[in-house]
Amino acid sequence: MISMDQARSTLKRVYGYDDFRAGQKRIIQYIIEGKNTVGIMPTGGGKSICYQLPALLLPGVTLVVSPLISLMKDQVDALHSLGVDAAFINSTLELGEAGGILRQAQNGRLKLLYVAPERLESEWFRERAKTLPISFVAVDEAHCVSQWGHDFRTSYRAIAPFMRELEEAGRPRPLMAAFTATATPEVTEDLTRLLELGDSELVVTGFKRDNLAFTVLRGEERKAFALDYVRRREHQAGIIYASTRKDVEDLHEMLRRAGVAAGRYHAGLDDEERVRMQEAFLYDDVRVIVATNAFGMGIDKSNVRYVLHYNMPKHMEAYVQEAGRAGRDGEPSECVLLFHPQDILTQKFFIEQSEASPERKTHEYKKLQSMIDYCYTTGCLQNYMLRYFGEEGEEPCGTCGSCKDERESIDITTEAQKIFSCIYRMRERFGVSMVASVLKGSRNKKVIQYGFEKLSTHGEMRHLTEKAIADLIYVLIAEGYLQLSEGQYPVVRLLPPAAEVLKGQRQVTQRVAKSLKPKTASAV
Ligand code: ADP
Ligand code: ZN
Repeated sequence: MISMDQARSTLKRVYGYDDFRAGQKRIIQYIIEGKNTVGIMPTGGGKSICYQLPALLLPGVTLVVSPLISLMKDQVDALHSLGVDAAFINSTLELGEAGGILRQAQNGRLKLLYVAPERLESEWFRERAKTLPISFVAVDEAHCVSQWGHDFRTSYRAIAPFMRELEEAGRPRPLMAAFTATATPEVTEDLTRLLELGDSELVVTGFKRDNLAFTVLRGEERKAFALDYVRRREHQAGIIYASTRKDVEDLHEMLRRAGVAAGRYHAGLDDEERVRMQEAFLYDDVRVIVATNAFGMGIDKSNVRYVLHYNMPKHMEAYVQEAGRAGRDGEPSECVLLFHPQDILTQKFFIEQSEASPERKTHEYKKLQSMIDYCYTTGCLQNYMLRYFGEEGEEPCGTCGSCKDERESIDITTEAQKIFSCIYRMRERFGVSMVASVLKGSRNKKVIQYGFEKLSTHGEMRHLTEKAIADLIYVLIAEGYLQLSEGQYPVVRLLPPAAEVLKGQRQVTQRVAKSLKPKTASAV
């Protein structure tokens, strides 16, 4: 049995590090105890050591399934420089070379063998693999096996049959570990099932970014806000993300006119300009870059002080990835999201326009709803993210917009009761805007068609704008009183806590920023 002491001394001897990071320790412990393990860790969290170190301690050879050829080569080069025997097999090698490498593995002269998932589909490779002393299989970027991940690759589906074949050939079934940086609980469940990891251990770690302060602002005049925000941070590097090329162009133009050295980046620019912009940003020739989500892949700039989202992205995975480009150097940085209900329509439009299957679309709508909930929650934003990715939220972070309590709670029980009772009377069959129209007292065609102008709740909130009513409904959704059904035309339904409110057994409060108070105070 391998001990953690052995693991630690190997870490020191081979890598020169004094200790494991918290998550690494738990993952490595499970693996050396012989348990299949799923490790979820953000990029840069230190996944490689989680499988390389056990590979050094376990007998025989470790197979690492990795999708990127360039990454494979880098890893193998890095291992060589540490004095570890490692090699890779992928489509860039001649058959003869690959054969030579397999012979080395057979003779016990390799500790790690990196393979692209496509190899496992090749009969030639599978036959030879049966003769190798494989004790451990590590799957990198394991979310690729799931259709619900953001990067599905069919060849990942060859992994489980490959493992079964080894067993059928009379080999002991190797230990397995799977790693990824982005897996929601449902992707995790899916990949555990598809890779046939069985009763495995799960370690989610390292998503907390203590140096990032998250804020969501609703109801700002976005253009004016962005200009002011950037001007106040003239000497800091920042990224502004917008959802459409047009918004990128408009914002870029506005900043340039205001004398800000701004760059732009989107897929509509030619390669040459994209490279130029990327470099200008990297080398601080422009301080701020306005971009669509096409920007960022492979960008490694450590001193980005803020990431401002001009629009709400399509899901939390995208948001965390984009916002996470701030503060890589560990210095305090800001992640601000400017939310406007129009963003919901834009994202729904994108989903509808896509050629995805109905099942997939339903799934995208669900992810969108979690993103919307993030924009409306009054709880700690950092914890909301951690919980979304399956990590346990701890103490409130103390730095996000919700935690930094500039806001005060106001009682909105009466407003909530009006909304719930209206939804109830409309038989929970309509969407947010229809409910808002009825409460506003609108007599539009649809309201009349259903006879809703006769409801006792019709016009009960006429002192508010329809937008303010809709906003309030979204707050109640984010707070778990209401639920939106899935699909293109989601319907608002009551959840059990709403019934308690209707019976007068429960109070509803909303936190309101002081700066927003005049608007909302008259509203409530
Ligand atoms: P990932 O694969 O998760 O993106 P890497 O395995 O490339 O991350 O590790 C990221 C960086 O962290 C590397 O520079 C690595 O050397 C460093 N690192 C990993 N584990 C430790 C540790 N226990 N102590 C110090 N540095 C570490
Ligand atoms: Zn917080």
